[in-house]
Amino acid sequence: MKKHFFILLFFVAMQHLQAQYTTENYPAYKGKDLGLTYSKASSTFKIWSPPASAAELLLYKNGDGGTAFKTIELTQGANGSWQTKLSGDLKGTYYTFRVKIMESWSNEVADPYAKAVGVNGQRAMVIDLKSTNPAGWAKDKSPSFSANNKATDAVIYELHIRDASINKNAGIVHKGKYLGLTEKGTKSNEGLLSGLSHIKELGVTHIHLLPFFDYNSVDESKPEKAQYNWGYDPLNYNVPEGSYSTDPFNCATRINELKQMIAAFHKSGLRVVMDVVYNHVADAGSSNFNQLVPGYYFRHKKDGGFSDATACGNEVASELPMMRKFILESVLYWAKEYHMDGFRFDLMGVHDIKTMNLISAELHKINPSILLYGEGWTAGASPLPDSLRALKKNAHLLKGIAVFSDDVRDGIKGTVFDLKDKGFASGKAAMEESVKFGIVAASNHPQVDMEKVNYSKKAYSSAPWNVITYCECHDNNVLWDRLTMSCPDAGREELVKMQELALTIVLTSQGIPFLHAGTEFLRTKKGVENSFNAGDSINGIDWSLKKENLTTNNYIKQLIQMRKAHPAFRMTSNEDIKKNIHFDEKAIKGTIVYSINGAALKDSWKKIVVAFNGNKKEHTIILPTGNWKVAIGADKKQQAVSGKFTVEGISAAVFYQE
Ligand code: CA
Repeated sequence: MKKHFFILLFFVAMQHLQAQYTTENYPAYKGKDLGLTYSKASSTFKIWSPPASAAELLLYKNGDGGTAFKTIELTQGANGSWQTKLSGDLKGTYYTFRVKIMESWSNEVADPYAKAVGVNGQRAMVIDLKSTNPAGWAKDKSPSFSANNKATDAVIYELHIRDASINKNAGIVHKGKYLGLTEKGTKSNEGLLSGLSHIKELGVTHIHLLPFFDYNSVDESKPEKAQYNWGYDPLNYNVPEGSYSTDPFNCATRINELKQMIAAFHKSGLRVVMDVVYNHVADAGSSNFNQLVPGYYFRHKKDGGFSDATACGNEVASELPMMRKFILESVLYWAKEYHMDGFRFDLMGVHDIKTMNLISAELHKINPSILLYGEGWTAGASPLPDSLRALKKNAHLLKGIAVFSDDVRDGIKGTVFDLKDKGFASGKAAMEESVKFGIVAASNHPQVDMEKVNYSKKAYSSAPWNVITYCECHDNNVLWDRLTMSCPDAGREELVKMQELALTIVLTSQGIPFLHAGTEFLRTKKGVENSFNAGDSINGIDWSLKKENLTTNNYIKQLIQMRKAHPAFRMTSNEDIKKNIHFDEKAIKGTIVYSINGAALKDSWKKIVVAFNGNKKEHTIILPTGNWKVAIGADKKQQAVSGKFTVEGISAAVFYQE
């Protein structure tokens, strides 16, 4: 009874607090020095907590366990800030904060702006970032990449750090670690390149890594324990995850090893995209945000509880000045300190458009070639109106940020909400318009019948760089499993053809193509649909599949090369798409045939014809007049053709004239 009474009292107090200080009333702190400002001579600690009547800094010898060896009262500063400056070199000291609000002390929490933490992220750590730089870091340079409207030059490869190297047959020493992806020339049991060298060989331009900021779900203190998580449960946004390092107890190690990994990618000609999850935190109530400023950083329901557009228990209020400031400073920090080349925003539809465009503007000021994209949807309702959020339908309002196209994703292989549903590549009828909408990168094209597109009834892109073209990602079944499950009667050969057709559509369409790691050699997750914690046996990449499916692997490699060599597949404006892509109106059901005016796009292929046959039966198409060469086509011997060409069942063909 007593306990419940106190909880009730606390709840009433919180309601009172929230009523008294509506979020808009809190003064925003303008400085860029929240958190730690370190030098060998002194360290300044600063937090923001307008409702606090007192605030303390607690210093510790270790990242976990033991008691504080010193507690320092913070001094109140401007606009809700609290600070203290301590002289001497505090490098390696751990620290927490707590604040007093309405006569009660908050939990002790790590600095929200922490750049280093102890094991499992419960305490922040004073770090000298310069000392974490690997040799040559100052000279680390991203491979060159076009800016702004040329983002369609990217070919993105989505990978989980642990998955890449955890399997014995990866032939990698540092299994599951940042360092595993620094090892070059590693080979599978069958003697084929694996890990970093495989990715380089494949020819993609950007490695998109699943979350590697410090997340909550893996106990870093028990590296020997079988644990696995994708990492979509943020704990410390500005610190690398400890479980991918060789020593999670010493934060300098993880920072150094992550930098080594990024440098290794850069040296191999690959850019790195960070999957960021600013839309929610692992646990809102106990989070450092909420302990230091109760109720501020999150959106709320009318009853005062946390609203939940993320289906993870809370959603951040990115539209509020101090949350916006936090996210902005966080991405800028990763871009500058870790030389990050891009960011993928998880459930970007939670964030407000203004914040996203501010992020884009500020990042592109320091590096115009930074690639930005995100999921233009949420996982539940949000109290912030649709018109203000970075939803897919508002994509055209986003500057320099792409959204994932679920229209083409599901048009190719069926809706993710019904495992038995098929798509164009797996033989479902009437999916042509959804795929065509993907081919034109969600732009307004007179030959796409929007009424027949699966989801969107209106074009939403402002340019091809505004759209990510894909057919699978870490969420939901991998393509191979999905095809297998939705086509129980199909034989293996047929399923392989479906996978190749699906990926051909992705890699020849306008927009920015996106591949899920291992799809090039028919990766399977053994039918597990949501493998976020399913362990290595499901998630770890089985490198023996590369040898088994080498033909597909090499085919995908060929497609990537073709795309990179031909600007016709990478148009830079919707006007160009409208003018230069022409669909064959006579194409029969289950097929899509279109031509590209390569000459107008300064492509060495003056004319291009692309044909997709989603039917099981072969289909003979009539090529426009003249002699054509076959770039992609089932019959490899047929190099020069004119007139008729037979496109095999479930396959693609690409023809060109020079
Ligand atoms: Ca962690």
